[in-house]
Amino acid sequence: MQTTEQSKTLAKNYNAVKENIKKACEQAGRSQEEVTLLAVSKTKPVDMLMDVYHAGARDFGENKVQELVDKIPQLPSDIRWHLIGHLQRNKVKYIVDKVYLIHSVDSLRLAEEISREAVKKQVEVNILIEVNVAQEESKFGTTTEETEKLVRDISFLPGVHIKGLMTIAPFVEDPEENRIYFRKLRQLAVDIGNKNIDNVSMSILSMGMTGDYTVAVQEGSAIVRVGTGIFGERDYSKTI
Ligand SMILES: *Cc1c(COP(=O)(O)O)cnc(C)c1O
Repeated sequence: MQTTEQSKTLAKNYNAVKENIKKACEQAGRSQEEVTLLAVSKTKPVDMLMDVYHAGARDFGENKVQELVDKIPQLPSDIRWHLIGHLQRNKVKYIVDKVYLIHSVDSLRLAEEISREAVKKQVEVNILIEVNVAQEESKFGTTTEETEKLVRDISFLPGVHIKGLMTIAPFVEDPEENRIYFRKLRQLAVDIGNKNIDNVSMSILSMGMTGDYTVAVQEGSAIVRVGTGIFGERDYSKTI
């Protein structure tokens, strides 16, 4: 009984977010296919992920390596797993051959470790560079000014491919306040893309969360990372 209620609610939420993305695409003259809805499932139990999977989701995002590694074998193998949280170098080896995209690379040292493990395991790893466009002290990410140099340095590493940029915008009441940061990230991607650096693509912008994803889509986002809007509030007091 309860599971049915839960799966209905989750499907309804998922479809509502999809619908909002569609509308934002229409407003911006974009095609809906250009935007991937990443279901951010951190702290949520496997049965809830399964419900969202049945609603149509195939891209799931986690921010902790341990949780990601625990969940992967319990869910269908056609899921694309994204690591969206801060990654420590000593954990790279656990996920490098399991993830579709790492959104949160912000240092050469981390990229070097990913490269080392990629070569060792003979896999090619796609990454995004996390940029702290809003210059918030509490956030990870490289600065706007340092991004191009970091991209160039990483571009030489074997087994690692930069596919674009990611940002976490500030927590705001009015999503319009974040439009400027989404624009900045997009402009930065355009500028770096114009340099035609070997082994570097700037085609993916990962930006927009529950509070601001429609604005992010209007500003060119390719991946929106939505947790609360699909799964509901997170309860960090419970360990899973
Ligand atoms: C948790 C998280 C999200 C999703 O946040 P919501 O506000 O719940 O949509 C998106 N991106 C990152 C990096 C996160 O850690």
